[in-house]
Amino acid sequence: MPVRQLPPVNDTLEQQQRGWACIWCRTWLPVGLSTDLGQQRVIPETGAAYLWFPRECLNTAACAEREATFR
Ligand SMILES: [Zn+2]
Repeated sequence: MPVRQLPPVNDTLEQQQRGWACIWCRTWLPVGLSTDLGQQRVIPETGAAYLWFPRECLNTAACAEREATFR
């Protein structure tokens, strides 16, 4: 599976940063039914470094369809 470049954290919602909603289509993710994209560390120009936890839908085809209508 190709690894996509994650969107900038500033373009994402809090729910997406916490791994509650899909990073691509913003769909609410059922517990245990999503793919963990790995912990991301952000070092802002000002302020303290922090972590965020992007996740995506298990069904990437359906996800891409939703993303297409969303954008
Ligand atoms: Zn999705």
